[in-house]
Amino acid sequence: MTKKDYYEILGVRKDSSKADIKKAYKKLALKYHPDRGGDAEKFKEISEAYAVLSDNTKKETYDQFGHQGFDQRYSQEDIFRNANFQDIFSEIFGNQGGFGGSIFDMFFGGSRQGHREQRGSDLQYEMEIEFEEAAFGTEKEITIPRTEACKKCDGSGSNDGEIENCEDCNGTGQVNRIHRSIFGMMQQIMVCRKCNGSGKKIINPCKECSGSGLTSNIKTIKVKIPAGVDNGNQIRLSNEGNVNEEGKHPGDLFIIVYVKPHKVFRREENDIHIETSISVIKAILGGEIKIPTLKGNTKLKIPSGTQSHTLFRLKNEGIPYVNSKEKGDQYVKVLVDVPKKINRKQKELLEKFEKESKKKFGLF
Ligand SMILES: [Zn+2]
Ligand SMILES: [Zn+2]
Repeated sequence: MTKKDYYEILGVRKDSSKADIKKAYKKLALKYHPDRGGDAEKFKEISEAYAVLSDNTKKETYDQFGHQGFDQRYSQEDIFRNANFQDIFSEIFGNQGGFGGSIFDMFFGGSRQGHREQRGSDLQYEMEIEFEEAAFGTEKEITIPRTEACKKCDGSGSNDGEIENCEDCNGTGQVNRIHRSIFGMMQQIMVCRKCNGSGKKIINPCKECSGSGLTSNIKTIKVKIPAGVDNGNQIRLSNEGNVNEEGKHPGDLFIIVYVKPHKVFRREENDIHIETSISVIKAILGGEIKIPTLKGNTKLKIPSGTQSHTLFRLKNEGIPYVNSKEKGDQYVKVLVDVPKKINRKQKELLEKFEKESKKKFGLF
């Protein structure tokens, strides 16, 4: 492809003054500026011509060697590097803030991170588990719908591997747009609409995925729930999320754990709490009671003279910390049960007891 003459592009003569060249470019920029709905490629073409013809050294080189000789000495990036368009854009758009980035950035982009380099999106799955499963850990099988690379075309979207570059973005997957804002002219890198950012043009699309390269799959995944997880905890499964539009770089899968409450145990961090009641006689005389723990029933010694609401601690009978050998404790709150009804015999005995108590403490 032969390149058009820079003078022709701007519609100026070799002996045109700098002011005339600027005037010519300004007029064309008004017409082709992408912000004004102009053609981005055309805008780049006139900007390139202006960048060369407005620079004395570059203009001389171009005059002497023509396109071919010039291109051997200057790369595309060299042409735009240090070129000053700011005053022209200020004149065109009358912005106060100035151009929000050099024209160099506009065409070559400071951030060239394309759409296709991005990771696929993360997925979330809410899982309800039993109290004991949280305490001891478990393994669950879940099924999640997710986007995967099409297996037939291996994510390429092509039936036969015949893929060309998208014409609109020259295979970059992105186009530059300039837009006006209160801060001045802003450059915006946008995903190419024609190819959706893939930069590709597929000649014969894969029939399985209609050329998208992607497929929706219901995936079954085994999830290991570690002992000690608590309500609201997240478990991250790396690379188990959706793939990106290129069928690559999957995101992560986050399992959000909801722990069902227990009938008896109440969890506080890694400690568990229970309440139990004992008779007033047991509280006075002491003895043993049977209480539930996570591992089953066990005996708890009640010392004589135990007051109501006394808290007993069973060390290491709580819930383990995730990925640790340490455990929380179990707390047992003992409530003394005062009988509401007693028979005559009991009453007599208690009266005797009261008499005895008074003697002992010398209250008479
Ligand atoms: Zn396919
Ligand atoms: Zn494109």
